Amino acid sequence: MTPNKEDYLKAIYKLGGLEALVSNKQIAEVLQVAPASVTEMLQKMKREGLIHYEPYKGSRLTDGGMHTAISLVRGHRLWEVFLMRHLGYSWSEAHEDAELLEHITPSRLTTRLDQFLNYPSYCPHGSAIPHMDGQIDCIPMLPLNLLPVGITSHIRRVNEEKELLDYLQESGIAIGCPVCIIAAGAYEGPLTLDLDGKKVQISYKAACQIYVEHNQGI
Ligand SMILES: [Zn+2]
Repeated sequence: MTPNKEDYLKAIYKLGGLEALVSNKQIAEVLQVAPASVTEMLQKMKREGLIHYEPYKGSRLTDGGMHTAISLVRGHRLWEVFLMRHLGYSWSEAHEDAELLEHITPSRLTTRLDQFLNYPSYCPHGSAIPHMDGQIDCIPMLPLNLLPVGITSHIRRVNEEKELLDYLQESGIAIGCPVCIIAAGAYEGPLTLDLDGKKVQISYKAACQIYVEHNQGI
């Protein structure tokens, strides 16, 4: 499936395109498409008033683009909460189906969903659900691989990618769980974790995609 305009808007939003210019290369990497198709789509989006596009520099969302991007991200994350809380979805299933639902959810439904779920601040993977004005609740975080051995923190967010989510859920990784690195293998080897009293081993690559609370003193 090729990414559509809405996926571009979301990608630019997630890459920080509310304030700064996002390069075509970054967008191509995130959406896994050829740079030529990115250029073509961005020109179209510029004509439609969704982005400010500066050739060779990058793009930034206009107010209209920002509004659409936020609605999409809100819809996606609220659906994830609903699917996991009420329909027993797994981490990766919720992400997959929210990806479909976000494109067909009218704003009235997003608002009701938000109300029904009692205004959650985070999706089940720990990403903040933005308010309609773009405000988000954010906590300082660092990737788990950078947490010093022997220091306890809490898992706050994981990257949303199907294989990773299945692997992490199988390993018992959960948002809010206390975590401490007991041992780190040499040469980016596996990490042995104390996960809320349970000893668990995960790959270094996965640890780079898990974020823990960045407490003072770390
Ligand atoms: Zn999510």
